[in-house]
Amino acid sequence: MKSDHHSRLERASASLTGLSVGDSFGDQFFVSDQIIELRLLHRSPPPPVWFVTDDTIMAQSVVEVLSSSGTIDQDKLAQAFANRYTRDPGRGYGGTAHRILRSIASGTSWQVAASEAFDGMGSMGNGGAMRAGPLGAWFACDLVEVILEQAQRSAAVTHSHPEGQAGAMAVALAAAYAVNHPGRETCPELLAHVQGHLPDGETRSIIRRAMDIPFTRPPGVVAAMLGSGERVLAQDTVPFALWCAARHWSSYPAAIWSTVSGLGDRDTTCAIVGSIVALSAGLPSIPQEWLDSREPIPP
Ligand SMILES: [Mg+2]
Repeated sequence: MKSDHHSRLERASASLTGLSVGDSFGDQFFVSDQIIELRLLHRSPPPPVWFVTDDTIMAQSVVEVLSSSGTIDQDKLAQAFANRYTRDPGRGYGGTAHRILRSIASGTSWQVAASEAFDGMGSMGNGGAMRAGPLGAWFACDLVEVILEQAQRSAAVTHSHPEGQAGAMAVALAAAYAVNHPGRETCPELLAHVQGHLPDGETRSIIRRAMDIPFTRPPGVVAAMLGSGERVLAQDTVPFALWCAARHWSSYPAAIWSTVSGLGDRDTTCAIVGSIVALSAGLPSIPQEWLDSREPIPP
């Protein structure tokens, strides 16, 4: 696996492309049950334009900092998050993210802003996980310990709760695994690999549960078993996303259709899956029509 700057950036950008198409696709499914049912039945993609949301915008900052520093410089990352937020706050950020990013933008340190969330418990939301795929791609040529540490640092800027960080570690590990193990139809080993390296906690134990669910199960049923982000938490978002990615390792559109059928936090589950499967299935697996439907990613 190549470790030069150009190759790392190329991989991270591929993951970001998959992430952004998944994010913007999934976000188009916050519509009536009837429309969703019809689209799923006929596999007919939503009409364009598909707008990207906070998932893509924050992941852009991750890639930008990695590209300029080669590592997660947390101060720079916090500033990049705050700058993009200030420029365009209407990208579907969650309530806690609004507070944290506004606070950082007004000069509060990220350490203080992140730790004040949820009465001092810190956020265990899925926001660290949703932007971690490109980071895993960047560090795919490095040791697992490096991936874990960098993912943890990238999440900690906004998510000081260990579950919020574990979600990011899980997605980064999965993206790195996709880079290193492409080209098979399904990848049941993914779940075991990720859970084997995660710190103990709820995210890990639900991924452990996902390992026992056969790929013959319909994704909608599995979403009900594992959660698909209804609570917007790392632990009720990441396990289902990883199961979907593993089930459709070689097909970006199949992965995204399955993921969106789980409903829940659908822009984020599709963003996570897209950021991984773009690497395992390769960029050509993303339909051109889908790329054209997504708005050009803002600077
Ligand atoms: Mg979003």
